[in-house]
Amino acid sequence: MENISPPSLLFGNDVAWWMANSQGRFKVKSAWDLMRSKHEQKRDYDLIWNRGLPFKINFFLWRVWKRRISTDDNLERMKINIVSRCWCCDKKKKETITHLFLTAPIVAKLWRVSANFAAINIEGMHLQ
Ligand SMILES: [Zn+2]
Repeated sequence: MENISPPSLLFGNDVAWWMANSQGRFKVKSAWDLMRSKHEQKRDYDLIWNRGLPFKINFFLWRVWKRRISTDDNLERMKINIVSRCWCCDKKKKETITHLFLTAPIVAKLWRVSANFAAINIEGMHLQ
């Protein structure tokens, strides 16, 4: 016990050491990184929020992705009663976001042409 020196005699006085970074110095950024809730960045949003597109297009894509556009099925979910009919085709089907963006004949044709252009085979695929 007599040969053991307290660390402060060997290494100087104690100093505060910030544990949130490897340098031990307090930085606002490291405090922010410590406090904020880190969640995995969704790849889907990276594809939707494209800097090369106008904001209104990005915003519309985001609204479609979140199913926040005023299609009849969404209005129905909000307890707004309407008689639903799709105006994009002759089938007189109920207007749903899936029908408008994926399954309506004109849209299915657009998907096929776009996929063909991108050399993607979507035959037999179920788009959602
Ligand atoms: Zn339709």
